[in-house]
Amino acid sequence: MKKLALHWQILLGMALGVVFALILSNFGWGPNFIEDWIKPFGTIFINALKLIAVPLILASLIKGVSDLKDISSLSQMGLRTIVTYIITTVIAVSIGLGVVNLVKPGSTITEDTRSELVEAYGGEAEMKRQDAQRQKDAGPLQALEDLVPDNIIGAAGNNRNMLQVIFFAIFFGIGLILIPEKTAQPVKDFFDGFNEVILKMIDLIMLTAPYGVFALLAALVVEAPSADLFAALGMYALCVVGGLALMIGVYILLVWIFTRHTPKSFLNGIGPAQLLAFSTSSSAATLPVTMERVEEHLGVKREVTSFVLPIGATINMDGTSLYQAVAAVFIAQAFGMDLSFGTQLGIIATATLASIGSAAVPGAGMVMLVIVLAQAGIPEAGLALIFAIDRPLDMCRTTVNVTGDAAVSMMVAKSQGKLGVPMVKDWDDNYKK
Ligand code: ASP
Repeated sequence: MKKLALHWQILLGMALGVVFALILSNFGWGPNFIEDWIKPFGTIFINALKLIAVPLILASLIKGVSDLKDISSLSQMGLRTIVTYIITTVIAVSIGLGVVNLVKPGSTITEDTRSELVEAYGGEAEMKRQDAQRQKDAGPLQALEDLVPDNIIGAAGNNRNMLQVIFFAIFFGIGLILIPEKTAQPVKDFFDGFNEVILKMIDLIMLTAPYGVFALLAALVVEAPSADLFAALGMYALCVVGGLALMIGVYILLVWIFTRHTPKSFLNGIGPAQLLAFSTSSSAATLPVTMERVEEHLGVKREVTSFVLPIGATINMDGTSLYQAVAAVFIAQAFGMDLSFGTQLGIIATATLASIGSAAVPGAGMVMLVIVLAQAGIPEAGLALIFAIDRPLDMCRTTVNVTGDAAVSMMVAKSQGKLGVPMVKDWDDNYKK
């Protein structure tokens, strides 16, 4: 019998995880069984992916930067990357604002539902608010200060410090460009080999993906809040998901215009990374697979992927910014506030910055949403209104975040003459060996 392609295996794993959890939820012991005996396998799977992230960034970015030959092509690529990231984020926020103003989901929330939600989730919302307060208390140049680590081992020891590792790798790569070729070569060869090993490790982890996502989805289902609350927030969720779907359409269009890759080839190439982003809700955990897919299946050269994608995973979150815009206006509507045009323009700026500042981990977008709310004068207690449905929306927005990074890396690669023919054509050729 022909073996099922990997993406189908992952989708099947997800579907079976949901069905399995729904069946077990009918038994008193079911949820505990999933918590104790199934969920740990999901955690192990995510950990294995995160484990790869720091060595992968180090190896591939050092090699990528040093292959650039001169510093001017690095700064040119850097500028193009940042500008394109900001443009796509502003497009995303604008789509979010357009949809939420058109549909007005907040007006469907009754007074009763509002107090029920505030009562149920007020505590959790307060915790997010405090997390955000800590970030708000920092000075204006804190982000810049945080970019430069005082110890590389310390920086590499915490997945939240990805930007510091990126800084070190770029710096090291620049040093490598500036020393004589003969001395640099063995160092480059080392990182090249190191990178190959890491890529092979990703292939091995991906073989277990169907089981990993089964466990992740089963655990999510038993932890989900009651269905009635989901229904009350249906229109809001629909706005976020509709906006995100539009954004995927924008990427497909941009990729087609700039690189002539058809929607099918783009989505086939990035598909497994999207499925992982959806199941893990973390762009950081998905990064190794995003890099592998974009390089091997979409033809972007390593000099570009190694630079554009790790930076994108940390700062380019179009799905998150779109969600923040919809959520902010939805909460305002639910509290009967009318937001002026000027306030909405302010939301474009703050949601863009807040998404840049969001960490690439589950739920981070909601913490930074507090800053958008505060800036627009919307009650922060409103966070409680959207808490119940945040996780499923996080899954969807993370998928868009990862897709956006891939699309931008293809456009930047094209503009630098670094978009080649994909190494692997078939969907899962490299998982067969
Ligand atoms: N979970 C998202 C990510 O990792 C961030 C967020 O919106 O919460 O991309």
